[in-house]
Amino acid sequence: TADAATALGELVGDRAEEWDLAGRIPGETVREASRRGLLCAQVAAEHGGLGLDSRANGELTAHAGSLCGSLRSLMTSQGMAAWTVQRFGTAVQRGTFLPRLTGGETAGVAFSESGAGSDLSAMRTEIRRDGDTVHVTGQKVWVTGAAYASLLVVFGTYGDGAAVVVVPADAPGVRIERVPDPMGCRAAGHADVRLDDVRVPAGHLLSGAGLPVALLATAALTYGRLSVAWGCAGILRACLDSTAAHTRTREQFGKPLADHQLVARHLAELAVAEQVALRCCEHASACWDENRPELGTQAVVAKYVASREATKGAATAVQVLASRGARDGHPVARAYRDAKLMEIIEGSTEISQLLLADHVRTGRG
Ligand code: FAD
Repeated sequence: TADAATALGELVGDRAEEWDLAGRIPGETVREASRRGLLCAQVAAEHGGLGLDSRANGELTAHAGSLCGSLRSLMTSQGMAAWTVQRFGTAVQRGTFLPRLTGGETAGVAFSESGAGSDLSAMRTEIRRDGDTVHVTGQKVWVTGAAYASLLVVFGTYGDGAAVVVVPADAPGVRIERVPDPMGCRAAGHADVRLDDVRVPAGHLLSGAGLPVALLATAALTYGRLSVAWGCAGILRACLDSTAAHTRTREQFGKPLADHQLVARHLAELAVAEQVALRCCEHASACWDENRPELGTQAVVAKYVASREATKGAATAVQVLASRGARDGHPVARAYRDAKLMEIIEGSTEISQLLLADHVRTGRG
């Protein structure tokens, strides 16, 4: 993990602000991150990955989250793509697609549609098999990383159930259009994707076709939720570091800001928020690594807690840095914009609350 964290730190350097302002990470940097296995570090060594467990990958994700929310977003979607292939692919599919994801290519994961956001059962994208060919038709929105991707992991209806198909981004009938000016994670390459009777070989249809959409999507989202949660712990770390450094040196009313009690309380609350987020992440990752049945629920808890804490914590950090942080591109300004979006994705705060209430009500999972 230490080597991976160092490699990640070298790739980002001091360029996160520049990427955020430009709304773009250089393609070669994205490919290099993929080639080094950093974007989906849980993929096994036999497929060219780093073979990290969930905890170690989580720490790497938090490190990315503290440096650059956009690169961390690409890690989340690449990891989710890889996990979906790992979970639902045959041995041949794993052997075909995973080495591409650790060998310089990237993937976006496409669930959402204009009419199917929180409610994925409303998906209209149709996946249909006709002999050796699979046809895919539909329109996806806000696919993270799609602007950089050579592969799209597309969820859609399949007869009475659902399916996942791996679509090359350059297949005839695929059109990728960047989401203009996203509020946060601005360099994460979000794009809308139009699929117009796209034809791919049947070998691109992951096994598990026909399963209920909830089952297929939840498996992928569990990885995504955990990854977002760790990323939010990283956002909190960056906010804590910025506020600690600033309040030690900036003086008002004849003493450092940190010596003013109301500011000190902000520091204490940020420190606790980071710890709370981290503990929830560590617990959920332990559930993943020990294959425990409560993983699904604990991933929701971690994502819910960490994204809310990061949203509050980033607002606090902007408050404490005041004019020093009120500039686009500044780490706390990026944190403020990026963190809020983490309350929307992979199951919004409200959807998380519904899932957790359902868990309490039924006593399941
Ligand atoms: P809606 O579903 O319309 O919800 C609007 C509001 O209503 C929300 O506050 C929601 O919590 C609330 N709400 C909805 N239903 C209920 C309910 N039953 N009870 C209470 N409240 C409810 N999609 C992908 O497929 N792939 C990606 O890689 C991807 N990346 C994204 C990255 C970013 C930065 C963003 C902003 C979005 C991304 N999305 C992606 C889309 C994302 O998954 C959806 O935005 C999300 O599922 C919410 O859907 P929606 O925006 O349509 O909101």
